[in-house]
Amino acid sequence: MANIKQVITDPISKAIDKLGVFDRKLRKLSSKKGSWIIVMYHRVVPDGTVDVYDLGMSVSRSNFIAQVDYFKENFSIIGVSEAIDLLQKGGTLPENALSVTFDDGYQDTYDNAFPYLFECDVPSALYLSTEGINQREPFWWDRVANIVANTSEYSIDLDGIDSTNSECVLKLSEGKKLKSLQKLLSLLWLQPPNTLNGSISKLEERLGDVSVDCLPRRLGLKEVRKLIDKKVEIGAHSISHINLTLFDDSELTVEFTMPKAELEKMLKININGFAFPGGRVNARVEKMISKCGFTYGLGVESGINREPYSYSNLLRIGMPNMSCSNVKRVFCKYI
Ligand SMILES: [Zn+2]
Repeated sequence: MANIKQVITDPISKAIDKLGVFDRKLRKLSSKKGSWIIVMYHRVVPDGTVDVYDLGMSVSRSNFIAQVDYFKENFSIIGVSEAIDLLQKGGTLPENALSVTFDDGYQDTYDNAFPYLFECDVPSALYLSTEGINQREPFWWDRVANIVANTSEYSIDLDGIDSTNSECVLKLSEGKKLKSLQKLLSLLWLQPPNTLNGSISKLEERLGDVSVDCLPRRLGLKEVRKLIDKKVEIGAHSISHINLTLFDDSELTVEFTMPKAELEKMLKININGFAFPGGRVNARVEKMISKCGFTYGLGVESGINREPYSYSNLLRIGMPNMSCSNVKRVFCKYI
């Protein structure tokens, strides 16, 4: 189902694209030596999947395929680690370099995105959090989104849940759910690791819990090993996927070193890259990249990477669930 932003933006972007406006601007990119776009995806879902939670994490399979086709025709697609190796050996990136990345590790991405990438021989990288990976435990934000989506309560009292005490009650009537969910998630992203699970349990007590079977399924190690066989780069995405800026230095070190050690041991590969969960990063978090033995870090701050590259916090552009005209529009914003 298209959201209101798509309904408005898509036809406008297509009309501007027909006039060649985006292509003219994007041609300037080739003249800028060393430009490197890193695109970011989370979930790639079957066409027609209704994203009731509208968290902006899903791209439909047909939009994904069209976007990859556009990248293949107009960019030099390179793996992230391959690009870093090349640069660190004193080389230069190919003209219009672009890398494809995925965060979190969802089953729907495995089913809908990777087969096409393999068919086209397009390299990519996937960043995984390790907590609950063996049991395919759902991610905390999916639990929260589903609790809110499925509740028949009309409001929730945030007493004991909102650590900032800025909100007392959120309305949950159908028209208000989306906005309340977004507010709730932003409040939960501010919670330190020792209180987040307690807050989610309180949400379940007040709104009713949801069956794990209803939640988006995570990839297990069996699928991850198949991806490695197909040369997909695997990177780390912390242990618990919560706000790293809230950890003290020793906890922070564990959130970087443990997933690296675990993934290396379980998968028998080297882990070089780390994607900051939710893009929550500050100078202290960024320093952990080299301190904990990673060669690069990926944020979610949008932009095109240019020399001198910030290896500890590379820019990425999140892909919209929209046509290629919109991808061009988004790229043009950063030229
Ligand atoms: Zn993530």
